[in-house]
Amino acid sequence: MGNIHHLDKVLVSQIAAGEVIERPANVVKELVENAIDANSSHIQIEVEEGGLTLIRIMDDGCGMDREDANMCFEEHATSKIKTNFDLFNITTLGFRGEAVPSIASISHLELETSTGNEGTKVVYEYGNKISEETVGCQKGTTFTITKLFQNVPARLKYMKSVNYEFSRILSFVERFALSHPDIAFSLYHQQRLVFQTSGNNQLVEVFGQIYGLQVARNMMAIENENDDFAISGYISRIDTSRASKNNIITLINGRVVKAATVVDAVNNAYRDYLFPDRFPIALVNVSIDPFLVDVNVHPSKMEVRFSKEDELYQLIFDTVLNKLKEINQTYEAHNRETERNLSPIQKSEQIALEIEDVVEAPKQEELTLVEQSLPPQFQFDEPVKGQEAVVSNYQEIIQEPMGEVYHQTIEPIEEKKPILKKIYAKCQIHGTYIVGENQDGFYLIDQHAAKERINYEYFKAKFTNKDPLETDLLVPLIFEFPSNEALLLRERRELLKSAGITLEDFGNNSFVVKKLPVWMKEINERVYIETMCDSIIHQNKLDELEIRKDAIATLACKASVKGNTYLSPTEMQGLLDDLMRIENPYVCPHGRPTMIFYSGYELEKLFKRVV
Ligand code: ZN
Ligand code: ZN
Repeated sequence: MGNIHHLDKVLVSQIAAGEVIERPANVVKELVENAIDANSSHIQIEVEEGGLTLIRIMDDGCGMDREDANMCFEEHATSKIKTNFDLFNITTLGFRGEAVPSIASISHLELETSTGNEGTKVVYEYGNKISEETVGCQKGTTFTITKLFQNVPARLKYMKSVNYEFSRILSFVERFALSHPDIAFSLYHQQRLVFQTSGNNQLVEVFGQIYGLQVARNMMAIENENDDFAISGYISRIDTSRASKNNIITLINGRVVKAATVVDAVNNAYRDYLFPDRFPIALVNVSIDPFLVDVNVHPSKMEVRFSKEDELYQLIFDTVLNKLKEINQTYEAHNRETERNLSPIQKSEQIALEIEDVVEAPKQEELTLVEQSLPPQFQFDEPVKGQEAVVSNYQEIIQEPMGEVYHQTIEPIEEKKPILKKIYAKCQIHGTYIVGENQDGFYLIDQHAAKERINYEYFKAKFTNKDPLETDLLVPLIFEFPSNEALLLRERRELLKSAGITLEDFGNNSFVVKKLPVWMKEINERVYIETMCDSIIHQNKLDELEIRKDAIATLACKASVKGNTYLSPTEMQGLLDDLMRIENPYVCPHGRPTMIFYSGYELEKLFKRVV
């Protein structure tokens, strides 16, 4: 008897509802999930024409016996879930056994699989079984899909360019690699190796493969727990951001999901460190009792919600923010020449070396072993060459440890760097930038941005201890609105009360403010109140903190020293000392860097004192 069981009907319809194969990437996703579930240590994906002419997924997992190889083409059969509880127990990866019949119904599909004994080959085309035979093959499973959507012209019409379809596939594979750094993935497009991981369980290395070396070096490890959740993962330094939230990846019990709570918590922790339209790169793995997770909407979307959502939010927010505070976030200058355009294999090689350099020096035998342990079906021309390259290159470097690669270390990210040391002001450039130095290297400081941040922290502290005292305005402030807006405002003006502002009626569509909290006299109170009214009218809510932040940032800007203003040495030193005293000295309240750091090593590189 095989492992695959038939499901009860209720559960079947629950699952089937979400099951759609819309594009080649969905095929890759479903089959790679199956491969992961089969405990594979190597998964190779080959794609032609964005997946439309060929998708081949090859794994070295447990494989299927003849019975299961046939059973997996039957509607709604799965080895993964047997009860309703399991559907919500998302430690189980692939609960979509019907993906195989779905795919078989819209393509030519060949399955070759073996549990290590005899192998089975089953061929389907557009839902009809073509053949079944016994074959000799390695332990594991290979799915080969051709003619995808050829019998569904309507679907075919929605396909975009080859590059677009491939980019969707790549993005899935990258996520799988991040969630399974212990599995070696390789992805080929048009017979070219595009993406590869080593499966050595080094998450940082996977980041390097996806985002490049510089990003990998700039990831910081996080870890924390409370009674219900344990979180771990990596977040980027503030100088390493992206224009989209898509680079904040959430895993729940090791599975990639969408979780707005997690994304919001990470983003909000960076609020005071990034431009409003910039987002961090992050991977957050949440370990949780499956009973606290609700797989919402439908399974293929994998939107999840949590009981105790607030607790999870707070845990992630605090952990991320603490990490940002405890590690030096100064923007650093880097010589762009150092990261060349490397092929995936070269990259993998370089990252492997850097990581070994940090962790421990690898032994030559180990590298040879890795090469030998590759299952025979993975020993294609290119990867094998790559493996050889790693070994020979490594030997060269050991013999003469002076090369660039050897010198580029990835900092052990878990290690706390000392927070900023005193910077000594040396001189000023263009009346705008201060040059400073300490034993670590030299700094260029933007005097306006730096003073702006200092002012901002000062005003923020002052206004947060809002004293409830109000002061009568000599000249009351009058505000006029279009009648529809005035109507809404009249209804919702209680919201303003919480911010200490009383709007009194003053004729048709006008309001008057006669008293204000004392602190507000320091800012442009008219603009401040107008902004709050606007938010109440158009969003029916008042994010007072955010509005106050903007008002204070504007005030801080106005009060700051302008560029092109000459400062005395004492003034410069005073500014730098003040900057070192505040919690976030790295960026101005608008997100611009206050200072750029040139390490001693970076200078040596620039002047070619080191290779
Ligand atoms: Zn400014
Ligand atoms: Zn600014």
